Amino acid sequence: MKIVVLGAGVIGVSTAWWLSQAGHEVIVVDRATGPAQETSFANGGQISVSYAESWANPQAPLKLFKWMFKDDAPLLFRPQLDWRQWLWGAAFLRECLPGRMTNNIRPMVRLAQYSRSTLRQMRQELGIEYNQLERGILNFYRDHDEFDASQVSADVMRDFGVDRRIVSADEVIAIEPALASHRASIVGGDYTIDDESGDAHVFTVELAKQAEAAGVQFRYACQVTKILAKDGRAVGAEVIQADGQYVNIGADAVVVALGSYTPQILSPLGISCLIYPTKGYSASFPILDPEAAPTVSLTDSSHKVVYTRLGNTLRMAGTAELSGYSRDLNRIRCEAMTAQAKELFGAALDFDHVRYWSGLRPSTPSNVPLIGQTKLTNLYLNSGHGTLGWTMGVGSSRALADMISGNRPEPEFPFLGLQNS
Ligand SMILES: Cc1cc2nc3c(=O)[nH]c(=O)nc-3n(C[C@H](O)[C@H](O)[C@H](O)COP(=O)(O)OP(=O)(O)OC[C@H]3O[C@@H](n4cnc5c(N)ncnc54)[C@H](O)[C@@H]3O)c2cc1C
Repeated sequence: MKIVVLGAGVIGVSTAWWLSQAGHEVIVVDRATGPAQETSFANGGQISVSYAESWANPQAPLKLFKWMFKDDAPLLFRPQLDWRQWLWGAAFLRECLPGRMTNNIRPMVRLAQYSRSTLRQMRQELGIEYNQLERGILNFYRDHDEFDASQVSADVMRDFGVDRRIVSADEVIAIEPALASHRASIVGGDYTIDDESGDAHVFTVELAKQAEAAGVQFRYACQVTKILAKDGRAVGAEVIQADGQYVNIGADAVVVALGSYTPQILSPLGISCLIYPTKGYSASFPILDPEAAPTVSLTDSSHKVVYTRLGNTLRMAGTAELSGYSRDLNRIRCEAMTAQAKELFGAALDFDHVRYWSGLRPSTPSNVPLIGQTKLTNLYLNSGHGTLGWTMGVGSSRALADMISGNRPEPEFPFLGLQNS
């Protein structure tokens, strides 16, 4: 089949790769000038199967309400005159009902586990280097209540087969000696040795090169304006090229991997999907003293931020704002991140050359991504991966390519259009 993939983020490029491996002719279209220029550009770098949890839980509504009045809150809801935001908010509250959380975590963990093993396989077979580290993810706590609550979450995750180990403060330091000077304030942690980290942008760029060599066509600087449909089927996409010309790209099937912009392209076809942007920030610091910077990927629970070593850079990422599509950098948030990084790893980092970035996580109310077939049987979705697109991306793409090729996807997951999954 000739298949057009809309979007060249980690999800679109991985989908193109797996479709080409299944023998399809693939064209990828993106408005950017290269792969992974938007949300997949500078994320937290964690392959965090052990934290494949949803934001929606019974405690979330109260926390969200309290955080509404704090400018530096980890999750901030800024009401907009946008009915999609309100619809999303209402659906999020429904997902907070007791019982929903477990239903949401189960498929995410299964997909994340499948994705991690797919990533390992790809790394071995394709030889892609992306500053990957297989040193696990360590979550450390400076507050006793949070540490106690983490033990409950760890129990839940263990029920799903995730080896999230509770560790003492001394063990935290033994796992990551770069935290040693903070021993007095750390009360404990949890650690998942099987998790890993790496640069999603570098991976996507390298995978795109290999996909191109395998015959995938990439058409960059092309704005997708609509999906072309006829007699209840997708027949291609209308795009505006860099030279300003409109062209139609014909296809036997279309995959939408446009991240936060997925709903806009689907709505003229009468397909609604609840994906809304959750804005996050990252700060990348050049490393001055490699011995004093962490190599284990860390989550600082008190500030809800992560730190990931990417070669000579320490990437810090976090915050979540439901505030629409703006990607402007809020200086207060940027400075707060720098202050936190200074407090933890002051001597190790170069604060004069920090690079700030923000990206829009394509979030569903349940955190479960939308993967599979739409009501137009040859129009497929691979979108809505929210906080975990790097963790789940290659697996969800491989599963979707299987589905499109008429094979049953491996992980148990509620794929759209597949019965009894
Ligand atoms: C601060 C932050 C930290 C994160 N940390 C982690 C982490 O540690 N681990 C993890 O697993 N995940 C993390 N994530 C989430 C992860 O980065 C995303 O889930 C993932 O990048 C989404 O990939 P995507 O391909 O769906 O979207 P994108 O990368 O945004 O790709 C969508 C593509 O569609 C293109 N596009 C959109 N509209 C059009 C159009 N009309 N025409 C043409 N092209 C169009 C865009 O140019 C873009 O290239 C983080 C996200 C953020 C913001």
